[in-house]
Amino acid sequence: MNPSILPSMATVPRPAFRQTKIVATLGPASTSAKVLKGMIEAGLDVVRINASHGNHQQDAETIQRVRSVSQEVGQPIGILYDLQGPKIRLADFSGDPIEVEAGDEIRLAVGRPAETGEIGSDYDLLDQDLSAGDPILIDDGIIALKTISVSKGLVVARAENSGVIYPRKGINLPGSQISAPAFTEKDQEDAFFAASQNVDFLALSFVRQASDVQQLKDLLSSNGTSIPIIPKIEKARAVDEVSQILQNSWGAMVARGDLGVEIPPQQVPIIQKQIIAEGLRLGRPIITATQMLDSMTRNPRPTRAETSDVANAVLDGTDAVMLSSETAIGNYPVESVQMMADVITYTEQNSGATQYPRRRERSLESTPEAVTDAACQVAHHVDAHALVAFTQSGSTAYLAASRRPKRPILAFTTRPEVRDRLTMVWGVRPYQIRQVSMTDQLIEELDATLQADGLASRGDLLVLLLGAPTHRMGRTNLILVYQVGTWSGLDGHQDDEDE
Ligand code: PGA
Ligand code: MN
Repeated sequence: MNPSILPSMATVPRPAFRQTKIVATLGPASTSAKVLKGMIEAGLDVVRINASHGNHQQDAETIQRVRSVSQEVGQPIGILYDLQGPKIRLADFSGDPIEVEAGDEIRLAVGRPAETGEIGSDYDLLDQDLSAGDPILIDDGIIALKTISVSKGLVVARAENSGVIYPRKGINLPGSQISAPAFTEKDQEDAFFAASQNVDFLALSFVRQASDVQQLKDLLSSNGTSIPIIPKIEKARAVDEVSQILQNSWGAMVARGDLGVEIPPQQVPIIQKQIIAEGLRLGRPIITATQMLDSMTRNPRPTRAETSDVANAVLDGTDAVMLSSETAIGNYPVESVQMMADVITYTEQNSGATQYPRRRERSLESTPEAVTDAACQVAHHVDAHALVAFTQSGSTAYLAASRRPKRPILAFTTRPEVRDRLTMVWGVRPYQIRQVSMTDQLIEELDATLQADGLASRGDLLVLLLGAPTHRMGRTNLILVYQVGTWSGLDGHQDDEDE
């Protein structure tokens, strides 16, 4: 190829490179093409579509729109479909919201329609799972009840504070073992729908143990598909078993909304740090979620506590931070993404030498891991502009990311689904390239793509991770220190003409 097609460093302004990724929940405030485009331009990496709301027809249209706007803007966007799981809700009672006073007796009808003076729920095993003394939290804990007595079809509880109960609000039972299955019939239908739409990730709410994730995997494989699964850590039991859960999953979400109701809220920050550290140790991407810029649902500027929260998640080493109501129903969806991007960028650029725990034990697949580890050190020593991973499955890019190198990881893959999954991963900028059989062609593709993207210029030093021979890509075993635009063949010499 002609190396001179690459402009010199001086002529191309470098786009700022942000390492921590941004997930935004879609909803009425953000499904239009205009807002989607604004959010992508502001820094969005992944959208979350909540299966609890909406319907398949509507979700299919949203997915279609996300893909077409992503194409238009020229940036890959990951799609996360979030399964409701065994979330318990109050019934959709008609009439006015119910005002309760502290000390009031609340009667919950179980497995039957509510009569006058009762409230129904959508969970038929409430009378099995609760005993006298157990707490019942309504609407993210806004109303706390304490169970007084339980009989077949009826739970009687006392309100511990005053407030208003609205229909369809969530119920948490932090003191009880829920016997509901890990996923419901609705989840099953939603999972098959998601598979038919080729979404990039499936989140599963209220996971309790690793076997819950396994059940969903089995269900998908019985249907001939496989989708990376992101369990939501929002129950005390899942916190206890987070290591086993992570080992069986693609990544995980610290779902702080429900987590802070299921366990005392003061425990959430430390648990967040522990889950992120475990994700780093195991090489599993972690999303930190909920209320990050909550006040931006209503206001154009966040509170200082909120900007601190985003910055601290970045410092903890999270792969991605997530927006919920801010982008789903808020008045400032684009501004929220922009603010998140600004906080992340500033924090990353000014946090100095953050030390992340590094994985030390040796794994079975040790060659790609050892080579990737060494490449990160080489990149540091030569002060490379970026690491480049040629990766079929994405695994080399995950391995590199879990080392948290202080430079971009440019991931080149032939598979669009691998490119789209890498949108969630810390520090990785994914590209799709065409299938080639020779290392020479691979590097031509690299030079051409970098030129088009403007992320590297002629003369920039890159550290390449390759598998040789190329037709067996996926076996990373080669490190090449390469100066952009100077390729003259693996057996030739690098052309270092003067500029
Ligand atoms: P949700 O999950 O928004 O679907 O409830 C996130 C959380 O609980 O934090
Ligand atoms: Mn939740």
